[in-house]
Amino acid sequence: MPCMSTSAACWTAGQPAPYLHLARTFDLVEREKGKIKTTAMLCNMFRSLLALSPNDVLPAVYLCTNKISPDHENMELNIGGSLVISAMEESLGTSKSKIHEMYKTYGDLGDVAQECRQNQTLLAPPRPLSVRDVYSTLRKLSAISGGGSAGRRKILVLHLIRSCREMEMKFLVRTPVRNLRIGAMMKTILPALAHAVVLHEKCSTGPVVSLEDVKSQLQDLLVPSLLCEGATFAASSLAMVPGTPIPPMLARITNGVTQALKLFHGRAFTCEYKYDGQRAQIHRLTDGSVQIFSRQMKDSTSQFPDLVNMIKELCNSEVASFILDAEVVGIDRNKGNRLMSFQELSSRERGSKNSSIAIQNIKVDICVFVFDIMFCNGQRLLDNPLRQRRSYIHDLFQEKPGYLELAQQLIVEEDEASIDNSSTLHRMSSFFEKACQSSCEGIMLKTLDIDAGYSASKRCDSWLKVKRDYVEGLGDSLDLVPIGAWYGNGRKAGWYSPFLMACYNPESEEFQSVCRVMSGFSDDFYKEMKEFYSGEKILPKKPVYYKTDEQPELWFTAEQVWEIRGADLTLSPVHHAAIGVVHPSRGISVRMPRHIRCVPDRSPEDCSTATDVASMFRAQTRKMEVSSDGPGAG
Ligand code: ATP
Repeated sequence: MPCMSTSAACWTAGQPAPYLHLARTFDLVEREKGKIKTTAMLCNMFRSLLALSPNDVLPAVYLCTNKISPDHENMELNIGGSLVISAMEESLGTSKSKIHEMYKTYGDLGDVAQECRQNQTLLAPPRPLSVRDVYSTLRKLSAISGGGSAGRRKILVLHLIRSCREMEMKFLVRTPVRNLRIGAMMKTILPALAHAVVLHEKCSTGPVVSLEDVKSQLQDLLVPSLLCEGATFAASSLAMVPGTPIPPMLARITNGVTQALKLFHGRAFTCEYKYDGQRAQIHRLTDGSVQIFSRQMKDSTSQFPDLVNMIKELCNSEVASFILDAEVVGIDRNKGNRLMSFQELSSRERGSKNSSIAIQNIKVDICVFVFDIMFCNGQRLLDNPLRQRRSYIHDLFQEKPGYLELAQQLIVEEDEASIDNSSTLHRMSSFFEKACQSSCEGIMLKTLDIDAGYSASKRCDSWLKVKRDYVEGLGDSLDLVPIGAWYGNGRKAGWYSPFLMACYNPESEEFQSVCRVMSGFSDDFYKEMKEFYSGEKILPKKPVYYKTDEQPELWFTAEQVWEIRGADLTLSPVHHAAIGVVHPSRGISVRMPRHIRCVPDRSPEDCSTATDVASMFRAQTRKMEVSSDGPGAG
């Protein structure tokens, strides 16, 4: 029987993989800063798992990325630093005050635990932990609720801590506090896993799969689909399954219809209203049930019982299963189907994980505007061009105005798609104006035939957005993450003000500062944030992956996303957003920023990226150069 023992712990085929195998790899990855080498290390780890314990690959992917379930299962780990510290005190023979003191020096609970364990004399070697032990214990922890749950959780954490060997302690303790500090997010894990799959298939003389195929399928589907138990790793078997959300396709920003038309020159495209609501991915499963997923791929079915009924009632019952992309918008049916703003829609009750809101308690009615279809009756449609995909939608349901409608659209055919065609520009500008008058955020433009597939999880050039705010010169808004703050003065004494805001750079996995924000907040909001950013959410020092020349008095863990709008964008010697992209040593900053709202359904890594900030900056520069020649033009 083959046995694996490189950097890894030794184990034989068919046996559960030791957690030490992961911990040793994490340790190597933590020390190595180069992306290529860390990917190779992770790839080797996955290869050994594929060869010896394939059932441990999924738990390992979860443990590497600090998850315990696919996002749409809405499972939370439910343990915080204080429980871990209490278990450390009991199992490592170090008092809480000593642990807190050490934490101030190390800035990391995992390092503290590792140090305490090294100073401990054990009577007998602990029973080895396996990958699946750790993973299943974390899932159990998440399921514990009700009276005495803190005590029951602590027993499980104690069991894990007591069983740790070598550097296992460091990573095991970091897991519940959600910071492995190995920079191994999905972006690093996916290529490593894809390489491992291809090499594994080659060695086991299975079907020959190309790296690009595996990569793109993993990118599209891995997070939700592959992480569902039972999926295997042969690229051909990475199937789409209704009930498992697809990461949504996203659009690029443009500064007006003129620029958008230039970008789509010579290609047929559709313009659609960009509704100001909440994205909804609607799944009908073969058993007739309906599930709704948010932009974050969270199950939001319980929030929309009325939408579920509409789909059941209005969709063609001969189509057994489908996955639709749509926007749910608040609607006032007593006022001629007036569309409401996103804010009005968000005042609607949310429902909970286990129970839907009652239909009779619904205060804000909704209309759903369907704009895409990704799966129909067992057929994956991602690679079909949009024009074809849209024909599937037409066969799927009868529109019912004010309830279920197709997104309003204007088609521009290939021979009309030219900036020199004034009639096209005029039609598009009027369409844009009509969209704005109908309370929409602007319009979306999408290629119909060329490069017109549904690129799950990607922000693509084949989807463009023209937003009213931008065209009106107010500046597009950014979704930014508070990463630090100063203590407020005067009226704001006792609260935090200003906050330091950052965008995310997925390439370097860094949060890069964009601006300080100190306006747009209510007093209640200040109070709420003072309570929210406390305890473990305050970091002892600036993390290496926060990039800025600012020195706030407090550093926060990346938790929330806020919509921020400013006058315009400018180069900055202090802020690091998109540094090196539009200027070799300067980043981009927002001038006169103000807080618009919190964006609760977005995770910090899903905020505006450095590329978004750079594109907005470039678009602004171009806009200044191009003279306006009509509404929406620019
Ligand atoms: P934004 O903050 O501008 O809404 P985003 O990052 O959520 O952007 P984008 O792909 O950039 O996503 O913009 C499209 C968003 O607009 C979608 O997420 C969706 O919620 C919404 N939307 C409204 N109408 C449409 C439409 N017809 N087609 C696609 N998306 C639409």
